[in-house]
Amino acid sequence: MAGIIPPDKLEQIRAASDIIDVIGAVLPLKRAGANFTALCPFHKEKSPSFNVNPHRQIFHCFGCHKGGDVFTFVREYENLSFIEAVKRLADRASIPLEFDNQPGQQQARHLKEALLQMHEGIAQRWQTALANDAGGQIARDYLAKRGVSEEAIKLFRLRYAPEVWDDTVNWAKSKGYELPVVEQGGLIIRKEETDRYYDRFRGRLMFPICDEQGADHWLQRTRPLRRREDREVCELAGDADLH
Ligand code: ZN
Repeated sequence: MAGIIPPDKLEQIRAASDIIDVIGAVLPLKRAGANFTALCPFHKEKSPSFNVNPHRQIFHCFGCHKGGDVFTFVREYENLSFIEAVKRLADRASIPLEFDNQPGQQQARHLKEALLQMHEGIAQRWQTALANDAGGQIARDYLAKRGVSEEAIKLFRLRYAPEVWDDTVNWAKSKGYELPVVEQGGLIIRKEETDRYYDRFRGRLMFPICDEQGADHWLQRTRPLRRREDREVCELAGDADLH
């Protein structure tokens, strides 16, 4: 059941995890005006371009452009998943995670069901994009070139995430989903230092991975598709990856 944390619990953990304390425990931070600086742990440098802003509770490196909140830092620095980073900070702040007790388990189960439903919904949106959207032509061309039949596309529920920044965001809003929940479902990403979100999957052919009950999971195998400049040929950019 691990993996789902209610949004209010996340906020409680965030509030208890001062970013200066958390980063200061692993990096020597120096005060520079209202901010703190250090040599960036994410790229090699001789003068510090890594900044931490205690007021906004965020970090940002002007060298490699990594940045985010306290969860992002722990995730990146310790090379953890988002959930593992949240657990690490919850332990540090002695905040029990609610899926240890009964009401919390129920809450988490409801959230899991909501996320599964959400993934089924976005699956349908992306299937439509593959079947009908003008922007889905690149994916249709690619599948045709690889000899994948219409029947196979339907059978395996292949789909295409449009190459725009707000298709999933707008879809989620139109369905009444709260964007922080959609973020937790792995479909969108919060833009650093803002409350704005953008699509995580853009211009990608999506291959569903189902669990033992056949429920479409939030694991999706994806393959980015890009057009070459001649706008004719699909090419593969990198290997398919798992998220
Ligand atoms: Zn850096």
